[in-house]
Amino acid sequence: VWGCMLTPTMQEFYTSDAGLMLPDISIVIPLYNEAPNLAELYREFTEILGEAGRSYEIIFVDDGSTDETFRILTDLHAKDARVRVIRFRRNFGQTAAFMAGFANARGELVVTSDGDLQNDPRDIPAMIEKLESGCDIVCGWRRDRKDPWLTRRAPSMIANWLISTTTGVRLHDYGCSLKVFRSDVIKSLRLYGEMHRFIPAIASDQGVRISELVVNHRRRRFGVSNYGLSRTVRVMFDLVT
Ligand code: UDP
Ligand code: MG
Repeated sequence: VWGCMLTPTMQEFYTSDAGLMLPDISIVIPLYNEAPNLAELYREFTEILGEAGRSYEIIFVDDGSTDETFRILTDLHAKDARVRVIRFRRNFGQTAAFMAGFANARGELVVTSDGDLQNDPRDIPAMIEKLESGCDIVCGWRRDRKDPWLTRRAPSMIANWLISTTTGVRLHDYGCSLKVFRSDVIKSLRLYGEMHRFIPAIASDQGVRISELVVNHRRRRFGVSNYGLSRTVRVMFDLVT
């Protein structure tokens, strides 16, 4: 960004966004074929973040979608310069999408979320408050998770126990995408495969303080889930790594 000419919308962002050069908060959201969710997703996040009164940017990472996702994101960016879009040439997976978002995040705090409306942005202000009261990572805990038992909740219970036991970083819900990080913590991580779900365990090497907060979880209404049981196998291999 610094080395190239700024487009009109970017100039606007740099000069008029509450007079701040850089946003306080970067939201990173990976998307794979989430077109039917995008209008509501954008509306919810901007409403909550607007009420929070902090400057922000939303980085949508289009992970090689084959539906209308990218076109809709282009429209959102055209009308709101706080929306930034990264597009992958093909589907690389959620971990790669988070990495691209982290590399481009300019905020001091980075919030991650799913883009299918299952996470609830209304939880973000309390998570930020918790982080600012003295932690480096705040992880959402979907205590009342709205997903199928056999393909989601059961494997996840086993995974949480296994990851907690092997890494020594005990969390109830490693798989919850809704998390808040201090930017310097995630910028130094090098992740691949399915490793985004191990971020708290990997980052604990840096001596970070981690806490959990119970968050709301909702059923997926539009689009389809991208994962089946085969994910469990890949997660297990990455846990060994
Ligand atoms: N996602 C992605 N790339 C993928 C698979 C998923 O960016 O290859 C995104 C997806 O669009 C959603 C989030 O990751 O925003 C979580 O995926 P999904 O809802 O399919 O997972 P589940 O909630 O069923 O575990
Ligand atoms: Mg989902």
